[in-house]
Amino acid sequence: MIEDTVSIKITKTPNSRLQEVDWDNLPFGKVFSDHMLVMDYKDGAWQQPEIVPFQSLQLHPATSAIHYGQSIFEGMKANRTKEDEVLIFRPDLNAKRFADSCIRMCMPVVPEELFTDLIKKVVDLDREWIPKKEGYSLYIRPFMFATDDYIGIKPSDNYKFIIFTCPVGAYYSQPVRVKIEEYYTRAAQGGVGRAKTAGNYAASLYPAKLAQEQGFHQLVWTDAVEHKYIEESGTMNIIFIKDGKLITPSEEKDTILKSVTKRSVVEIARHWGFEVEERNISVEEVVQGLKEGTITDAFGAGTAATIAQIAAIGYRDEVFDLPPLESREVSNRIKNYLNDLKAGKIEDDMNWLIRF
Ligand SMILES: *Cc1c(COP(=O)(O)O)cnc(C)c1O
Repeated sequence: MIEDTVSIKITKTPNSRLQEVDWDNLPFGKVFSDHMLVMDYKDGAWQQPEIVPFQSLQLHPATSAIHYGQSIFEGMKANRTKEDEVLIFRPDLNAKRFADSCIRMCMPVVPEELFTDLIKKVVDLDREWIPKKEGYSLYIRPFMFATDDYIGIKPSDNYKFIIFTCPVGAYYSQPVRVKIEEYYTRAAQGGVGRAKTAGNYAASLYPAKLAQEQGFHQLVWTDAVEHKYIEESGTMNIIFIKDGKLITPSEEKDTILKSVTKRSVVEIARHWGFEVEERNISVEEVVQGLKEGTITDAFGAGTAATIAQIAAIGYRDEVFDLPPLESREVSNRIKNYLNDLKAGKIEDDMNWLIRF
């Protein structure tokens, strides 16, 4: 049971679509559960949250988020165990990051505890939508955008906060091929790279498309100033295994989106006794490590894929293949641990899960 910390008005759908779902064939992000939560901000305060049947929104053409981009989101996953218990992985960190995004984008903060409670409520109501199949989960998308009907640039006075959920299958079916990007930039110091804000993703589409035309799935972004240091990859943070150590770009700069998955990898690896270095990593160090074979593993960390092992890294005109997946002891172990933990198959030693 979930405690009632906030009063929510609930209108259930009279027509559940649950029976229409093809559970063995779930594309990512195209199937939506029966309900969504909506909470408006107006007159300087959050209004009563409502859970309503999943439906389209009606928007004024001058809705300011569409024009000027005050729009932020989060992404997390819920799983359901064989015993029908719902597990969500570290939502407190998403709540914190959402609050940070709010502040950076001049949007009113959703109190962290409220954020987590609202997620629990909407997931609980649609708990039958959480797939039970191995590797599948319920993707949770909280987001918020400016709703003033006003064609002028200023922070909006009105906002909508919404949470909807999608049952999803696996995100990447195969190891990814990535390319080190030396011209385009995802985020510059002092910009909005640390916020999970809509425009960052729009800005990445064109360079990602060019890389896809060259046979890569994703880019590895480098710093905006010199393009000499590795930042992150697509919507994942990046980790390398070099000389047996985990190395990953430091989050101290505000150009990297702080990943909940990456944080968890770092914490569990340290707990297991691995040496972990969070520091600057130059492109040169990576290329040399790949050439000399001191880099034996590389992977992306993010909620959608959890751990996406990297098959090959493109740099200028060269492509470096990484060792076969069977030899990737560290990333295999981390991947299995996180997947088993999230599915409720192993003890939650780190106290990372909430359950209801
Ligand atoms: C969401 C996101 C990540 C991954 O963060 P998780 O909390 O692990 O899901 C990494 N980079 C970017 C740019 C992202 O938007």
